[in-house]
Amino acid sequence: MPYPLSQLIQAIDSNIEQHADEVAELDRVIGDGDHVTNLQRGIAALEDITAELDELDWSPALMKIGMTLMSTMGGASGSLFGTLFLSMSKAAKGQMFTATAFSDVFYQGVEAVKQRGKADLGEKTMLDTLIPVANRLKEDVTNGTEFEQLLTNLSEHAITGMKSTKDMIATKGRASFLGERAIGHIDAGARTSQLMICTITAVLTQQKP
Ligand code: ADP
Ligand code: MG
Repeated sequence: MPYPLSQLIQAIDSNIEQHADEVAELDRVIGDGDHVTNLQRGIAALEDITAELDELDWSPALMKIGMTLMSTMGGASGSLFGTLFLSMSKAAKGQMFTATAFSDVFYQGVEAVKQRGKADLGEKTMLDTLIPVANRLKEDVTNGTEFEQLLTNLSEHAITGMKSTKDMIATKGRASFLGERAIGHIDAGARTSQLMICTITAVLTQQKP
């Protein structure tokens, strides 16, 4: 990986920690309240292996991340985030890390989450953040968008996608039990996905040589 995973994981850890109460409340209102603790358990397990992760090429690193999240997080989000990274690892296998390769790999990871969760855009889940970001990343890399602009675009798409869940009825996950009562509340997984993506884009913007 061109940037140390340890730095990205630490930055994500601290941003999720800063928003932990807010995310817990989001999942309490339309879920069961455990999303942020599930995620923080997964991130803590990644913190324990950052030295090892920094030594690995991207495909095995993504594999290790996926396996760690799968085995520590729990909840619907544990298997979905686990699937994202395991599928990215599979797609990255044997490829050099380039912008084009990464955009394809991320796209395929998000496709695998769609399949695993039997969900798509507009169902009030993490996918409402992940899909617009995957699409935009592919588009910008294909068009040769300048790096800093690309990072800005991805943050904007993550935020717009996350916010779009507010007015949706959920058709997947626990929030689907609430029907119309879920309207007016942002989905917790869409929010944490956006926070993580925006942390990464912020770190990469700062680290630009
Ligand atoms: P649980 O719902 O088992 O308590 P979490 O609270 O950790 O698990 O995660 C809930 C989040 O998982 C939701 O906010 C939503 O973003 C995401 N989610 C739930 N079901 C699906 C699904 N079928 N497809 C995509 N994302 C989903
Ligand atoms: Mg929950």
